[in-house]
Amino acid sequence: MNILVLNCGSSSIKYQLFDMRDKSVLAKGLVHRVGMAGSKIDHKKGDKGDKVTVSSEILDHKDGIKKVLDLLVSKENGVIKSLNEIKAVGHRVVHGGEKFAGSVLIDQEVLDAVKECVNFAPLHNPPNLKGIEAVLELMPNVKQAGVFDTAFHQTMPSKAFLYALPYMFYEKEKIRRYGFHGTSHRFVSKRASEMLKIPYERSKIITCHLGNGCSIAAVQGGVSVDTSMGHTPLEGLVMGTRCGDIDPAIILHIMKKHELTPQELDNLLNKHSGVQGISGESNDLRDLEEGWPNRSERANLALDVYAYRIRKYIGAYIAVMNGCDALAFTAGVGENSPIIRELACKNLDFLGIKIDMDLNNKTWRGVEGDISTPDAKVRTLVVGTNEELVIAEDTFDLIEGRLDPKTGKPKRK
Ligand code: ADP
Repeated sequence: MNILVLNCGSSSIKYQLFDMRDKSVLAKGLVHRVGMAGSKIDHKKGDKGDKVTVSSEILDHKDGIKKVLDLLVSKENGVIKSLNEIKAVGHRVVHGGEKFAGSVLIDQEVLDAVKECVNFAPLHNPPNLKGIEAVLELMPNVKQAGVFDTAFHQTMPSKAFLYALPYMFYEKEKIRRYGFHGTSHRFVSKRASEMLKIPYERSKIITCHLGNGCSIAAVQGGVSVDTSMGHTPLEGLVMGTRCGDIDPAIILHIMKKHELTPQELDNLLNKHSGVQGISGESNDLRDLEEGWPNRSERANLALDVYAYRIRKYIGAYIAVMNGCDALAFTAGVGENSPIIRELACKNLDFLGIKIDMDLNNKTWRGVEGDISTPDAKVRTLVVGTNEELVIAEDTFDLIEGRLDPKTGKPKRK
């Protein structure tokens, strides 16, 4: 039983084909520059196969998906004989609003609901929808599932998700904290409880997803009780180019003083802030860490602000959950940056977080492990995230009837 996972961005399509018998990756790849000059597909057979690059004009998402399907069945680079071997397609969908607290099978009602959420995620939901619609046309008989970034956080209590604005904004316009990276927080918190051999239903775990976008979540008893991203993925931690938490009055001040349009402000906060904004050098932590701490004063400052914000949230979430069994670092930076983990865990020994520098320095590039000192009350873990696998598993469980197709809740036996 093969399942294709699609993650359609505004100008890219990430794909992975899974064989669900052993959850192995048959093929994976990335379509670059959809609808632009210089489009190409980087394609790999298996998880670790050699990359082949196919340059070709890719007009739009439908064209891109069609070319991916052609590749999957092609003589030279293919891994299946016919498209009939793909039983279902699972899509990453960024924003599900308050409508989706789990993964669902896609029908017209779901499509309409995802369209209603476009307002909340104008950059993300439209390409996600294009992917779903393209598959509807290209493989009309294949079942499709939607797996939402926001769904895992729908368990947050109102005290965590409400902003202190006039209540009308929540009631009428649904302005509230939604949180993102839910698929990753769910996978990583579950994996952390398995690594520690504690029941997920009784665990208290703080998950730190540090990639291009960064967010942190408090996961208590297997459900999200708070997370740092908000109504949009701009709030919370400092990111590569996004500012994270900021005094909202600063935005008004800058807007007036520099006569910026909403679009220009959006650009400033989303694309020119974060560690890029502070360092003036790069949005990539790898660059800023090179030569650390002797690279430059502003690179150090960017790393300090980045790590300090993480540390503040860790303290806050220990307070939220009245304790913590494990702190789990994941995604590009979380899995690969001993420097950020060291800086973020500084001064937390009072709360029971102590990392072993040797273990920390040895744990990166796909190595999973516990990097705490033996006496640390809270275990600090490095966990590889795998959002694509979660999407494939949910899709599989939906089509096999283990999850309710409308709510994504496990069906009672
Ligand atoms: P995305 O959020 O797009 O899924 P990733 O989780 O792969 O991306 O994270 C990408 C980020 O990870 C890059 O911006 C880079 O800063 C960071 N990164 C990758 N490898 C390292 C490393 N060895 N050291 C520090 N940061 C790294």
